[in-house]
Amino acid sequence: MPEIPDLEGYRAYFNARLPGVRVSHALVTIPIVVRSAREEFAAALTGEAFAEARRQGKYLLFPFESGRLMVVHAMLTGRFQYCDPAQKRRARTAFVLALDNGLEMRYFDQRLMGKVYLARDEGELPAVVPRWAEMGPDAMSPALSEELFVERLRRYRGQIKTVLTTEQCVAGIGNAYADEVLWEARLHPYRRRAELPDETLRTLFRAMRSVMEWATPIVSARMESEGLPDDHYRDHLRVHRKGGQPCPRCGTRISEITAGQRITNFCRKCQE
Ligand SMILES: [Zn+2]
Repeated sequence: MPEIPDLEGYRAYFNARLPGVRVSHALVTIPIVVRSAREEFAAALTGEAFAEARRQGKYLLFPFESGRLMVVHAMLTGRFQYCDPAQKRRARTAFVLALDNGLEMRYFDQRLMGKVYLARDEGELPAVVPRWAEMGPDAMSPALSEELFVERLRRYRGQIKTVLTTEQCVAGIGNAYADEVLWEARLHPYRRRAELPDETLRTLFRAMRSVMEWATPIVSARMESEGLPDDHYRDHLRVHRKGGQPCPRCGTRISEITAGQRITNFCRKCQE
């Protein structure tokens, strides 16, 4: 699923292109993904001009100059296309925004698990987006201090990887980057939070920030040079999906455990 570096990549990509651009026509092609009626979606967005996109947790917010917002929660397989209208639409394209710069912004979603919401303004978000109000602070929010991070994690007792990917605790970290953050922090993903001292949680906070700060410009640069991906740019990751390869830190073969449809990769030697 798209995580912080992927979503920040989209945000930067669209902010370099969309602010001030107007929607000339909005078309819903797969209604279950777009949580507004077809006619309502078209009527609401036609004529709207994009303002600066933002990210909150795993949500991408596209505000318009009127204050209205389109919110995209891409879940596992949601992706964007920004292209000439003549270019072939991807399978499972869920909406198309024809723009007054002659291009189209499209959203496609292989598994159709993503959701797209419209809100009249910021204040309407908790009413329109399920679980918006329960979402914890974004992992990269300046308001999330090391102290607050430790305090929030202390409320959870389970496995640290599960805690790190719990949106109500800290928002934005998914399965792939949780592995990366835990590797950076030299922490075993199955350790229970309840047995970790505050000092370890502080190390985890710093690892979380440094991994995201390291990965985001890598992903953004690839989106600029190679275009928006059909799959995520993840080659730079050090352990996730690198099972059997040598740990970049100690050379031990990276372990891989699959539980529920989630792959967890870690180094048995240097993560404890
Ligand atoms: Zn290692």
